[in-house]
Amino acid sequence: MAEIIKAIKGTCDVMPDDSYKWQYVEQTMLNTALLYGYREIRIPVFEHTEVFSRGVGDTTDVVQKEMYTFDDKGGRSITLRPEFTAGVVRSSIENGLVNGTLPVKACYIGGCYRYEKPQAGRLREFHQFGIECIGANTPAADAEVILLANQVLSDIGIKNLSLEINSIGCPTCRAEYHKALKAYFADNSEELCGTCKDRLERNPMRILDCKSPVCKGIAEGAPVVLDFLCDECKEHHAQLQAHLDAAGLKYTVNPQIVRGLDYYTKTVFEFVSGDIGAQSTVCGGGRYDGLIAQLGGPAVQSVGFAMGLERLMMVLGAQNAEFPEKATCDIYFAPMGENEQVFATKLCAILRAEGFEALSDINGRGLRAQLKYANKIGAKFTCVLGEDEVKCGILRIKNMQNGEETEVNAENIVEDFYKLINTLALDNLTESMF
Ligand code: ATP
Ligand code: MG
Repeated sequence: MAEIIKAIKGTCDVMPDDSYKWQYVEQTMLNTALLYGYREIRIPVFEHTEVFSRGVGDTTDVVQKEMYTFDDKGGRSITLRPEFTAGVVRSSIENGLVNGTLPVKACYIGGCYRYEKPQAGRLREFHQFGIECIGANTPAADAEVILLANQVLSDIGIKNLSLEINSIGCPTCRAEYHKALKAYFADNSEELCGTCKDRLERNPMRILDCKSPVCKGIAEGAPVVLDFLCDECKEHHAQLQAHLDAAGLKYTVNPQIVRGLDYYTKTVFEFVSGDIGAQSTVCGGGRYDGLIAQLGGPAVQSVGFAMGLERLMMVLGAQNAEFPEKATCDIYFAPMGENEQVFATKLCAILRAEGFEALSDINGRGLRAQLKYANKIGAKFTCVLGEDEVKCGILRIKNMQNGEETEVNAENIVEDFYKLINTLALDNLTESMF
């Protein structure tokens, strides 16, 4: 036998029996985003590497260590998207959206690729849902984006998340903060990890985001960004809180949150779960006022977030969240011979055109094996087709829940099958009432 080929480390398959959960979560996200005016944007999985090196920032872990970058056959440097924001901004500039009616409100769902050490909640291919609000610079925009994230998380059934917000200032006040951070960390530079030694020179704020326990420990005593905010950033931060308070959304201000990507300015935030261990941030976002200009667009300010679907599924699993029932086969036709199989194909075609999941034998199995199969897949109704059924067109449709059989004329199959399916819905309703 040929050797089995395994999936790439850090990737996951979703099986046909489980995908309904993903579909439910993704559809809910898109529906909720629509309530805030966000419509889906679809962008390529790969971009010119420069989109990310310039967009995400070349002092970030993502760009320095985690990107899947390769030369294509034409010798161009290509990168699989490690996140969506830079690509969405690239696309909004290229397609002229940023020069049109603002804000541009776009949401997305899809795979992201990062060369990270795989562990629970940290994959090499993972999926994000996110939104970008491009061309709005008010605290009200930040608040709307955070409220949307909160509603998405609650609509998919997640409970017990905490929201943490911070402001990391604008380039003006951050310059002062960087100076203070450099001075602080320079005193402890011997103990910092190799990466952080490098960060100290190029981007000291990144040290606050380091996952090494030693660096984390040192960072605890570091100067706090909120003490360095300029008047405008301070006011923005205060106004955001006024909006969140008005909407009744609880949060804590956590000055340690700096987020992993370089493009953030002013507001940053995270939703964190206590239910899934170390990789606990399920949603991260913030304001990125400089990014559009950095990627060649006009000076318009923006805000957005991204959430990791795998981590959300882990939380839903840990919380035993309920999903809507999985769809099962509406009717299974069990033909006893070849002629009957042709008749089954016709009946299936008629019912599928009406939107029913109608199946029949395609393996040439015997009747017993067919009915066993129908049972296994949870068919709601079955219908055995023999010579008589084909000849007279009178079908006996069996309700698999209570064993009841109903005679139906093949001529009226659509109308009569609607009635049968409706009785089933009614039965279930009365059952759940008692
Ligand atoms: P972390 O600090 O966990 O590495 P990050 O700051 O790199 O996260 P972002 O780039 O802001 O994360 O991505 C937003 C969200 O995408 C994260 O909050 C998380 O839910 C998810 N995510 C990021 N990286 C991964 C990964 N390697 N595997 C699974 N989910 C991820
Ligand atoms: Mg990361």
